[in-house]
Amino acid sequence: MRMIAELSPSAITRLSSEISVEAVLQSSPDGIAIIVRGGDAVFVNQSFAALFGELPSDQILWSLSKRFKAGDSFLVQMENSDGVSKEMELLDGRWMEVTAKPIRVEDGPDSTLLVLRDITSTVRALKENEIRERRLRDLLSTMSDGLVQTDVNEAIVFVNEPFCVMSGYSQQELIGKIATELFFEEEDSRMVSKTNRLRKKGISGQYETALKTKDGSRIHVIIGGTPTFDLEGEFSGTIGVFTDITGRKMAEEQLLHDALHDSLTGLANRSLFMEHLKLTIKSRKRGNKGLFAVLFFDFDRFKVVNDSLGHAAGDELLKQIAARFEANLRPGDLVARLGGDEFTILLNDLASEQAAFLLAERLQEDLKRPFDIQGREIFTSASIGISFGTASSTADELIRDADIAMYRAKSKGKSRFQLFDKEMHESAIKRLQLETELRQALKRKEFCLFYQPIVDINTRALSGFEALVRWNHPQKGFVPPDEFIPVLEENNLILTLGKWVFQEGCRQLMEWRRQIDGSDHLQMSINLSVKEFSQLNLIEQISETLAQTGVDPGSIKIEITESHVMENTGSAVSMMERLRGLGLELSLDDFGTGYSSLSYLHQLPVKFLKIDRSFIGRITENAEKREIVHTIVRLAQNLKMQVVAEGVETEEQLEELRRQGCEFGQGYLFSRPMDAVAASRYIEQSLSNDGSDRTKEIVAVRL
Ligand code: C2E
Ligand code: MG
Ligand code: MG
Repeated sequence: MRMIAELSPSAITRLSSEISVEAVLQSSPDGIAIIVRGGDAVFVNQSFAALFGELPSDQILWSLSKRFKAGDSFLVQMENSDGVSKEMELLDGRWMEVTAKPIRVEDGPDSTLLVLRDITSTVRALKENEIRERRLRDLLSTMSDGLVQTDVNEAIVFVNEPFCVMSGYSQQELIGKIATELFFEEEDSRMVSKTNRLRKKGISGQYETALKTKDGSRIHVIIGGTPTFDLEGEFSGTIGVFTDITGRKMAEEQLLHDALHDSLTGLANRSLFMEHLKLTIKSRKRGNKGLFAVLFFDFDRFKVVNDSLGHAAGDELLKQIAARFEANLRPGDLVARLGGDEFTILLNDLASEQAAFLLAERLQEDLKRPFDIQGREIFTSASIGISFGTASSTADELIRDADIAMYRAKSKGKSRFQLFDKEMHESAIKRLQLETELRQALKRKEFCLFYQPIVDINTRALSGFEALVRWNHPQKGFVPPDEFIPVLEENNLILTLGKWVFQEGCRQLMEWRRQIDGSDHLQMSINLSVKEFSQLNLIEQISETLAQTGVDPGSIKIEITESHVMENTGSAVSMMERLRGLGLELSLDDFGTGYSSLSYLHQLPVKFLKIDRSFIGRITENAEKREIVHTIVRLAQNLKMQVVAEGVETEEQLEELRRQGCEFGQGYLFSRPMDAVAASRYIEQSLSNDGSDRTKEIVAVRL
């Protein structure tokens, strides 16, 4: 089609004379009416008729107004329109764009050109679109995740409600903001930009970052994003979905904290301590010259508190100890609870070794102050081992060395500290070797029992034996128990050995009874160590052995050291009563060394007191020792107990004991501990000598 502008002026004149205005108006798809003042139509085109049907020309505006929802106000709007289009709805639901334009013709009446265009389909399309958009908006607001749409320049063009809640900003504040400014770390912003660049290439991805809210707090989010493209396929921005993972993150952080801290005291645990120690050593390898040390703590009486006042009291004590530690340390130092009552401290950048010693002293002083536990004053003291680190140390070594030094400090007495040295390490290694050898010895059954006679002091008649364990070492020969029992005690191996000792002692006694006539009255004394005595299934184990071997319980005397009983009176008394319940006899070993409280002694279901050999050794030369023995014997008589004297080596000692009224004796004077074969011979001999010997002795006493 040729454009009007391209036509010549003459052609235009010709054309306009040929084309009538009416024809033009008639051919328009819009409904057109020319209204004269008063509202009558002087012209309506076909389209108008098609839109509204036949309307009377008179007062056509009035008729028309009846068709619009606006009603009468339609007329007012028409009057004031002056060519401005209005979208108006008909009563039948159609929409019209209505334009009323006043026309002024010279010498003619003022009239109005009314143009009505059916825009129903456009309006519907728009409305549908609007509804869809609203639905989408509603949907995006109901998501729990935040949604942010950005343009090519990372400026926000849309956010949903959840993102506003998440970030604390309003929608208005966010629109136009550069999205990356919302991230906490510059690094995160860089990463977001980088990911966005990748997205431009159509690569979507997820990553974790921290969002900075309006009030400056931090929210951990996971962002998943996809690029958007315009109709031409050009990158137009991104849509990011923000999932708030702060709760999960906090739970993770809590888990991490729990994994590295002791839940009771809140102090660092072993893992965290090791980690710090390793970092400290690493920094020394890089040339840091600062002096550092590990302090290892052990508390005496902690077990007593736990056993006597209960675990809640023990826990309370540990918490208060932790608080005292923290009050005494500098910010760079780290205190940890490794477990039980074991605490360690890492002292960093010390001015001198002396500084570590001073701190150890200060802590010891502070820990000596009483603790208020459940309304009671509890006293404790700490033994401390110290090891200094170097660039070539390892964390394990430093802790181990401090531990070894702590043991040395402890063995020297309460509330001491000790610096680690090489010799300690060597003896610790020896001890470790011994432990390994002992484990093997138990497997290879290298232990055996020796038996030492216990005799009636007045008649010299054999009353029974004490079973004494020996380690029959393949190279060293018989190793005495003092050299290995403490090691076995430390790692519970004593329980395995003790069980065997008890079984073997019972078995041997039964064998003698079967093989040797007249040996039925013999008794067997069996030592129980501290650990065995606290063993939970001790009673079951013993009754099982008694049943298996057929020994009558009254023939067995359990020896338990006085010091152990006195340190654990509560638990010891109840265990003793259970053993008595089985029918066993009980003997308090090494009596006189355990500072017995006399008030307790009478509560114990004990029949025998074994006076420690340190009193017997000098009984004849030392009046004081003699007096002690005398007192013990009198005390035993009052308590209806019998006294056994250990370590009787000479006739003079025996004589003195007899004079004092002591009932039984055991010692080299009668026999050294001997193996089962020698002991059998000893029994036979003593049974055959019995009568004559006894008369001889009785005569001797009378003389
Ligand atoms: P204990 O129960 O006080 O045993 C007495 C110790 O004194 C024995 O040492 C014995 O050989 C020694 N002895 C006996 N008469 C004399 C003497 O006239 N002079 C001197 N100088 N010593 C004498 P042994 O056999 O070396 O046992 C030492 C300790 O080892 C025992 O002291 C006991 O506490 C413990 N023990 C021995 N066997 C066992 C066992 O099977 N289990 C447990 N738990 N401990 C045991
Ligand atoms: Mg004993
Ligand atoms: Mg003893």
